[in-house]
Amino acid sequence: MRFRAAVLRSYESPFTVEEVVGTGPAAGEILVEIAGSGMCRTDLAVRRSAGRTPLPAVLGHEGAGVVVASGDGPDSAIGVGDHVVLSFDSCGDCRNCRGAAPAYCDSFASLNLFGGREEEASRFTDAAGGALASRWFGQSSFAEYALVPARNAVRVDPALPLELLGPLGCGALTGAGAVLNTFRAGPGDTLVVLGAGAVGLTAVMAATSAGVRTVAVDRHRGRLDLAERFGAVPLSAATAQLAGHIRRHTDGGAQYALDTTASAPLINDTLRALRPTGTLGLVARLHTALPLEPGTLDGGRGIRHICEGDAVPGLLIPRLIGLWQAGRFPFDQLIRTYPLADINEAERDCDAGRVIKPVLLPERRER
Ligand SMILES: [Zn+2]
Ligand SMILES: [Zn+2]
Repeated sequence: MRFRAAVLRSYESPFTVEEVVGTGPAAGEILVEIAGSGMCRTDLAVRRSAGRTPLPAVLGHEGAGVVVASGDGPDSAIGVGDHVVLSFDSCGDCRNCRGAAPAYCDSFASLNLFGGREEEASRFTDAAGGALASRWFGQSSFAEYALVPARNAVRVDPALPLELLGPLGCGALTGAGAVLNTFRAGPGDTLVVLGAGAVGLTAVMAATSAGVRTVAVDRHRGRLDLAERFGAVPLSAATAQLAGHIRRHTDGGAQYALDTTASAPLINDTLRALRPTGTLGLVARLHTALPLEPGTLDGGRGIRHICEGDAVPGLLIPRLIGLWQAGRFPFDQLIRTYPLADINEAERDCDAGRVIKPVLLPERRER
C-alpha cells in the first residue's frame, strides 16, 4: 500500500512529506490509520544521535489511530475498528519484560532507537524502492499509517478525542509515570520538577492530582506560568540560592526531584535541596559527564535514571485517561495541532519554545 509519511533523510535536512510503500501486517502486527502523532524531544534528538539512528527514517512515536488491519485475524485481542494509543516497543520475553518493566527491556535501544527488528527492514520503502527505517519506537507514526506490534497498542474508548491521545504513549507517560510509578508520591510528599516542558508539566499535573506539593523550576516565564496553573510553585532557574528557596517551599527539603533538563548545576542545586533519603530521577539524555559536587548524595540521597515513567502502558494510559476525564490531568492544554505537512514548522516552534507539545495530524484524503 502507498501512503504519505514525513521522511528524515539526513541529520541536518528538514523532513520531507512524501509517498512511501509498506506491506500489510504480519502475525502479531496491526496496521493503524494515524489520527494524530505527538512530537517528542526524542524525535528531534535523532539529529544529535551521531549516526546511531539509521536514516532515512520515518520518526514519530506518540501515535494514536484506528486499527484498519490485523495480522492475527478476527480473534486477536486488538482488532479492526479498535481505537488505540501506541506506545514504545519491547520484546515481551526478556527478564524485565516478564517482570512488568518493559521500559527496561534488554532490547529497548535496538527496538526503539536504532532501527527496530531486523526481519522488518525491507518491508517499508520510499516511492523509488529505497529502504526506510520504519520502526522508530515500533511505530514511525509521522505518517498516514503505521505498522506496529499489537503488543504496543492500548485500546481506548472510541468516544475520546483520538487525535489528541498520542502523547499519552510517551511524553505524558514519562512525566506522570515518574511521579505515580517510580516515586509513588502521595499526599504530604514533596517534589521538585526541573524543566517545565511536556514531561515536566505532566509530572506537575500528576503530582497535583496525587496531592503532592510541587515546585517547578524553569528559565522561561511562560512555562512557569503554566506550571503554576497546574498546581506547582514556580521558581526561576536563575534564582540565587536556588536550593534554599526549594527547601523553603518543600517543608525543609523535597522527598523527590525529577530532572528533565540534564543541567549539571540545576541537578547539583536540587540534590542539595532534597531531604535525607530523597531521590532524584533523570529522564533527559545526558550528552556530557555529570559532575556531582561533594556531599550532594550524603544522607542516603539517591539518583536514578527513569525510562518511560516505569510504565506498563496498558495500565498507565487508561489511568491517565481516567484522570483527564475527571479534570485532573489536563495534558490536552499543552497541545497545539499542525497538519503533518507542516512538520518542519512544528519542529521550529518546538525548538524555539513556542509550543509545549505539537501534535501532527495527517490530512484525511478521499479513498
Ligand atoms: Zn524485553
Ligand atoms: Zn518520547
